[in-house]
Amino acid sequence: MSYVDEVIDRVVKENPSEPEFHQAVKEVLESLRPVVEANEESFRKDAVLERIVNPERQIKFRVPWVDDKGQVQVNTGYRVQFNSAIGPYKGGLRLHPSVNLGIIKFLGFEQIFKNSLTGLPIGGGKGGSDFDPKGKSDREVMAFCQSFMTELSKYIGADTDVPAGDIGTGAREIGYMFGQYKRLRGVFEGVLTGKGLTYGGSLARTEATGYGLLYITEELMKCHGQSLEGKTIVVSGAGNVATYAIQKAHQLGAKVVTCSDSTGWVYDPDGIDVAALKEIKEVKRARLTEYKNYRPNSEYHEGKGVWTVKCDIALPCATQNELDLDDAKALVANGVIAVAEGANMPTTLEATEYLQKNGVFFLPGKAANAGGVATSALEMSQNSERLSWSFDEVDAKLKGIMVGVYHNIDEAAKKYGFEGNYVVGANIAGFEKVVTAMNAQGIV
Ligand code: NDP
Repeated sequence: MSYVDEVIDRVVKENPSEPEFHQAVKEVLESLRPVVEANEESFRKDAVLERIVNPERQIKFRVPWVDDKGQVQVNTGYRVQFNSAIGPYKGGLRLHPSVNLGIIKFLGFEQIFKNSLTGLPIGGGKGGSDFDPKGKSDREVMAFCQSFMTELSKYIGADTDVPAGDIGTGAREIGYMFGQYKRLRGVFEGVLTGKGLTYGGSLARTEATGYGLLYITEELMKCHGQSLEGKTIVVSGAGNVATYAIQKAHQLGAKVVTCSDSTGWVYDPDGIDVAALKEIKEVKRARLTEYKNYRPNSEYHEGKGVWTVKCDIALPCATQNELDLDDAKALVANGVIAVAEGANMPTTLEATEYLQKNGVFFLPGKAANAGGVATSALEMSQNSERLSWSFDEVDAKLKGIMVGVYHNIDEAAKKYGFEGNYVVGANIAGFEKVVTAMNAQGIV
């Protein structure tokens, strides 16, 4: 049995009930075959793959808090510190009822390679809780965040592990967590990113993942003799990534005609109104059913459906495994040119293969959504030098990083004879840097 197959088998056996983690490991290791096979003997001897699929540390803890009725609630918190070979652990905190150890591990594993691809000195980690901020009062959210941070604060720090936002963790949650960390540890330091602008946050961090997604998609199109001008785009999601992806797509001359949340989706033939979307989601924290009140020409549909809409480019920006084989078939039948992942692992393995076989340019999330963590790293730099850069300065750096990520993955794919396969390119480029750093640091 090949070394790659052996390690995949071991991961499945040793981590039962973690299907998302198995999926992420398979996707990465399968595409690393050419590199592993070229170094099989030394990699096997040094257990390189066993070390890369095992987190350096995983922390699981109780999070008790009191709800508005005086009832004590108990959630579970997680922080997986996956790999610190190239810098302090860095990765978001997800607050969603679906969170479990396997989901946090899949996200942390992906984060190692994504962070490496940015070219910045950040290791991979991820955390979160099965707490659902939806429908909770501000006081309840604060009570949860304070309890969560009371435990988490023992394991993080500006030079060790710097968490950020993710699904369910926005500016409000980061603010409450930062306040509690400062109170407990007595230091004002850049321990979290995605902070408010009045206390160390970076301009353009809010926009970064969505904007970065469009910068890399623009570069992809440019390198294939096309542009975003006049293109029709479908987007899923209606959160942070989706909102700013839509905004930047419009600025670059494309038209985004859909968005979605966990209950339904919107089709707006005139292009999604970003101001309306922000008011519904960021201010009112309401459902997309409200969108029709702002745009009478639009349609609202219950359930899932954005991938059935004819488009040139598809940008999945909601959650994992939201674009399956049937969706990929519908997109191809409608003539899609490119799919770029704003979310983490939104496309199933079968769907990814189908898109690639049918000549669709496919940019995986670890490259396409790296703008968020890259700008978080820029926030860390600003915090360390106690300075704030202008919006344009951060945005220009973000654009440079995303263009660099595209060429980095494109060249890695070419080097190993997989031209145009950006999944292989991203995994190889991310992996090579991390393994070189791990080897240099001995068996740790
Ligand atoms: P938000 O919480 O702001 O938005 C998530 C959106 O996806 C919401 O519209 C939500 O709908 C929808 N959604 C969530 N879960 C499901 C589900 N199970 N089925 C259908 N729709 C769902 O999160 P973000 O925009 O920050 O994150 C979106 C994705 O991007 C995630 O995969 C995240 O890991 C990834 N990402 C985020 C980065 C960031 O900087 N924020 C950086 C890199 C990646 P509803 O409102 O109904 O919950």
